[in-house]
Amino acid sequence: MSDCLFCKIVAKEVPADIVLEAGRALAFRDINPQAPTHVLVVPKAHHENAAVLAAADDGLTDDLLKTCHAVAVLEGVAETGYRIVFNTGAGAGQEVFHVHAHVLGGRDLTWPPG
Ligand code: C5P
Repeated sequence: MSDCLFCKIVAKEVPADIVLEAGRALAFRDINPQAPTHVLVVPKAHHENAAVLAAADDGLTDDLLKTCHAVAVLEGVAETGYRIVFNTGAGAGQEVFHVHAHVLGGRDLTWPPG
């Protein structure tokens, strides 16, 4: 989508601190980190949110989750524990409507989230 920020990051039209590029997925650091590790993992293809991505069901959901774990390993948080968050819909706090997983770690994470 031409007006989608994360499509522009995927296309390298908008700069981002890229952590990993893995096939159909791209991982980059969140500009407003909420933990020592806060990386966003997106499919290169545009899907509005996690529900739309899951309905498309072409293996991309698997790729995305595997990339999240690869990021956790790279960041050194796989052993201590990390969180994967998909804000899905405006009511859940989704602000960018190109599906993205937040990979958070590097500090104690409380539950429930706010
Ligand atoms: O789940 P939600 O849509 O609220 O998350 C969007 C995330 O994208 C925010 O954490 C925000 O800091 C991040 N962001 C970014 N780079 C931008 C714009 C937003 O990392 N240029």
